[in-house]
Amino acid sequence: MVLKFFDTAKHALVDFHPLNPPVVTMYNCGPTVYNYIHVGNLRSYVFADILRRTLEWNGYTVKQIVNITDVGHLVDDGDAGEDKMTQALRREGKPLTTDAMREVGEYYTSQFKTDLAALRILPATAYPKASDHIAEDIALVATLGEKGFTYKTSDGIYFDTEKFPRYAEFARLDIKGMQAGVRIDVGEKKHPTDFAIWKFNETLGYDAPFGKGFPGWHIECSAMAMRYLGETIDIHTGGVDHIPVHHTNEIAQSECATGKPYARFWMHNAHILVDGEKMSKSLGNTYRLIDIHERGIPPLAYRYWLLTAHYRTQANFTWEALAGAQSAYNRLTNFVFTLPNTESDAPIESYISEFTEEINDDLNTANAIALVWKLMKDASITDADKYATLMKMDKVLGLGLALIHSHMSEMRDAVPAGVNSLLTLRQAARSEKNFAESDRLRDTIKKLGYDVKDTPDGQMLEKI
Ligand code: AMP
Ligand code: ZN
Repeated sequence: MVLKFFDTAKHALVDFHPLNPPVVTMYNCGPTVYNYIHVGNLRSYVFADILRRTLEWNGYTVKQIVNITDVGHLVDDGDAGEDKMTQALRREGKPLTTDAMREVGEYYTSQFKTDLAALRILPATAYPKASDHIAEDIALVATLGEKGFTYKTSDGIYFDTEKFPRYAEFARLDIKGMQAGVRIDVGEKKHPTDFAIWKFNETLGYDAPFGKGFPGWHIECSAMAMRYLGETIDIHTGGVDHIPVHHTNEIAQSECATGKPYARFWMHNAHILVDGEKMSKSLGNTYRLIDIHERGIPPLAYRYWLLTAHYRTQANFTWEALAGAQSAYNRLTNFVFTLPNTESDAPIESYISEFTEEINDDLNTANAIALVWKLMKDASITDADKYATLMKMDKVLGLGLALIHSHMSEMRDAVPAGVNSLLTLRQAARSEKNFAESDRLRDTIKKLGYDVKDTPDGQMLEKI
């Protein structure tokens, strides 16, 4: 079955084939661990997870690297401003040392991993930390220097973008317009697009032959990607904000250093918005996964919500949208609970092949979810076959459907809380005159050990 992805570099849907099948090497730009990540960031990792699961579905073995940026990411994606990690030390009243920086980084990394687990994102092969790979950065900066691609200013070593004639190609940058338009203060830089690969810093920095300091954020990603995955990697991902600067710079420095193509496929997720603007810490409009949880919405309902949109379309985060996703997710899980949980029956081939077509078509999760609903309503298929088919589809969707039965059994011990939420759903179904759904919920509640009676005062529970 053909696997097609939208490649940012080619700006088109392209057939995917790895360099060395069955292995696929994949690098997902990881978080800068100076703070908690927000649910916008999490879209990047849910997208990368769906991509990895889709590759595995197609029989590939994925070597997946997610870096942890715990040094060197300036507040500005260019070269201005303070390092974000230094900012975190100031905010938290910690000493300005590399040890304290690592400590802060470790705390936010563990919080990041907790969020990944809550969203059933499979663990990557490795999560290398930038601070553990300073030697690789220094070697890369040195190679670029020897090959004549860099120059020194009073504040660092810079990559000379004019020496890489294809610099503007990847992001279709209008370099002439950039130079002619708004005057950018380039300081000692030769061209506005030149970027620091090493920043001098006498107080907080690492020793290097060209001067004490720390690596630039872009060089760290190139160094870690090549260290773990080789000079040419199959797939590199990130959010669309990385296209014009971070990934453009990664390509320039990596390809100049090795003379080889850096990444064969580039894939980018669109942003999560709030009131039409990108969810971002600088705009102060972020939500964390815990905020969702605290509203009583399970994290997997957020994953479900993300999957109902294509990863390349922007999605507006609202509590109404999430409540809609929660009730759909609840309906789905309630339905799964009503099915017999035997995995002995064969998945329905026609559904599986349609599902494969959808996810292989640039990860069309929205259509894959629509197919789940079609299957649920398909009267020609037995419950046992529905269960087997859903379990298989969930290998890609990652909605935790296989756990529903055990979760529901746990709920049995936690009544009436669990039963109460089912009663609320049933009440909603009845007010929508959806009696089929209301009956289904009654059966589910019965399995949890309670009979529901509809009385003039509303629903009443009776322990069986
Ligand atoms: P950062 O720590 O800023 O490098 O962000 C980690 C990942 O989240 C990157 O791949 C970003 O492109 C991505 N990202 C940041 N903000 C959003 C957003 N609002 N929606 C989707 N992805 C985002
Ligand atoms: Zn990166």
